[in-house]
Amino acid sequence: MTARGHGRRDFLGMLALGAAVTVLGGCGPSGPRKPEIPPAVPGPAASVTRAPGPGHQIALTVDDGFDPETLAAYVRLASDTGLALTFDPIGRLADTWQRHVKALRPLIDKGQVQIANHTFHHRLLTQCSDAQVRSEIERNEDWIEKTFRVTSRPYLRPPSGLRDARTDAIAGSLGFTRILMWQGSFEDAAPVSATQLMINARKALLPGAVVVGHANVGTVTRLYPQLTALIRERGLQPVTLDQMFGTSRSVGA
Ligand SMILES: [Zn+2]
Repeated sequence: MTARGHGRRDFLGMLALGAAVTVLGGCGPSGPRKPEIPPAVPGPAASVTRAPGPGHQIALTVDDGFDPETLAAYVRLASDTGLALTFDPIGRLADTWQRHVKALRPLIDKGQVQIANHTFHHRLLTQCSDAQVRSEIERNEDWIEKTFRVTSRPYLRPPSGLRDARTDAIAGSLGFTRILMWQGSFEDAAPVSATQLMINARKALLPGAVVVGHANVGTVTRLYPQLTALIRERGLQPVTLDQMFGTSRSVGA
């Protein structure tokens, strides 16, 4: 009885504390913060490149956003067609991404679009100090939480795919336990011809693949009909990372 009594008092105390934290959280200069961002779940980090099982899922991931027009076209594609996409934004391009927050939030809320962490400045993590690696990841996560009201954990895409045991360990300690690599690439981080991009896409769009593309050069935006036709012909099912790997936004792991 006594134990139960204490337990109940503790429970009520926690409720009161929770209410106080909520009130405090709503008083910041930037307005109410999203209260349901789950805490980090640290652990050992491992890379992912493809679906864990058989099937025809593909995870299309879009990095950076260096070309505002291309990013706008990708957002329109997601809005207009319902295509599942994962965006991997960098906070130093916050002004560009901010234009699409209104369009993206509902797609994020319904699980059609996901946001993964691609670091704040897009520095090569293997050349950064431990403190810089931590800051690059955490600053981007903070920006994503404020901007898109969702966590990017546990997915970290290292800039240029450069990582090592040290950077993986730091990422894992911050709850980024899935290092988001890829099986196939459109290879369009820098200028590429339409012919070459389609050759790359035919190699990349295979069952189970995580595929990387970029919102950096406009070539891809002129190929959407061909790319979506290829996806359809091959019977591929575009999904988010959560759908492919069984993670969730409410847990962030
Ligand atoms: Zn990048």
